[in-house]
Amino acid sequence: PTRDQVTYFGAGPALLPTSVLETAAKSLVNYNDTGLGLAEHSHRSEIATGILNSAKEDLAKYLDVPDDYEILFMQGGGSGEFSATVYNLVNVWVARRKEKLLKELNLAEGEEFPEDELLKEMQKAVDEELKIDYLVTGSWSLKASQEASRLMGFEHVNVAADARQVNDGKFGKIPEESTWKLSKNPAMVYYCDNETVDGVEFPGFPKILEPKGGDDDPIVVADMSSNILSRRIPVKNFSVIFFGAQKNLGSTGVTVVIIKKSLLAAPPAPALLRKLGLSVGPIVLDYGTIAKNNSLYNTLSIFDVYIAGQVLKKLLETFPDKVDGQQKIADKKAKLIYAALEKYPDSYKIVPDKSARSRMNICFRVTHLASGIDDSERTFLKGATDQGLTGLKGHRSVGGIRASNYNSISLKGAEQLAKYIEKYAQGSK
Ligand code: PLP
Repeated sequence: PTRDQVTYFGAGPALLPTSVLETAAKSLVNYNDTGLGLAEHSHRSEIATGILNSAKEDLAKYLDVPDDYEILFMQGGGSGEFSATVYNLVNVWVARRKEKLLKELNLAEGEEFPEDELLKEMQKAVDEELKIDYLVTGSWSLKASQEASRLMGFEHVNVAADARQVNDGKFGKIPEESTWKLSKNPAMVYYCDNETVDGVEFPGFPKILEPKGGDDDPIVVADMSSNILSRRIPVKNFSVIFFGAQKNLGSTGVTVVIIKKSLLAAPPAPALLRKLGLSVGPIVLDYGTIAKNNSLYNTLSIFDVYIAGQVLKKLLETFPDKVDGQQKIADKKAKLIYAALEKYPDSYKIVPDKSARSRMNICFRVTHLASGIDDSERTFLKGATDQGLTGLKGHRSVGGIRASNYNSISLKGAEQLAKYIEKYAQGSK
């Protein structure tokens, strides 16, 4: 089939706008008549810096990122950020804890606290107080929490909420905020805003984590790999937001981090961390280092930044009201598909609870045929593929059907899927 005969609902990498790909394909051979393709230009060139800076600017504009935030382009994917968030925010926690300790000691001007005493006090603080909080609401936040345990030791990881405990051992619901067991002054509270595998999305920013403006405000970190650019987010409530480009922004190869600048100020203290028995992260995951070098500490795929930049330009042209415009369409598409599923309760079962349904990854089971769920899903998928609706198979760990409804799925594509869902249930594909 040709591109325009297919609507691909795969979970990522996802569809990119054809016009962006066509321009990018040309630039891959000869960028702006320079005689060199974009992937051949140096990441130290003016061309590269220009592309990088305008992608940053457009992202900030589209999402209204405040001035006291920095935007980083990194490598290592969303999974790399599971580790990066731990390394960087534990470092911040240690630096701040040390500062607090020195303040409490009330030292006279010029007076130094003996190094070994300081170390002893800090060790006590780490052993007794250092916690990293996770809200485990699906496969990806679970993975992130496991990585934190692997890097820092499980004794430092606090699963503040585990969604399986309120939903018969399965993901599909977000536990009530009042039941979250948050630590006192954790290095971060981490959550995944949209769980791609399980089809669970936070309806909005958790009330309990809203900042009050004091020193004790929680450090909130969110993985937005699969729902970024699809709705307005209160950026100022977050310390770090990260996402791989490959679903709603661009091509696989770059990962974006939006980080509060004040967090970059903590001095990297590898020697102290080692003495305290804590892991020291690789330099390529160090936010301070990446920020200081405007994301060009080492060779970055400028081609992938370019694609992301082109997508952002298109979004800004299409939506004068920026992300609010995209949000209206994303919500409408999701509503259409869920409504079609709900109309035929004998044929479909939507997996997550209504209160936590994802607008981006719509997960359901097909129970249409008397011969069983496997048969039903096989015939559902086959019929869909015959009509050019592809990529609908659920994640291998959970099975079922998953329609990934990212930004590049057009309203028409969503309508086609909704129509197919209805027709299939009526038994007349
Ligand atoms: N976080 C979420 C929500 C994801 O959906 C994924 C991948 O699909 C990841 C993290 C991991 O991203 P990556 O494959 O870029 O490491």
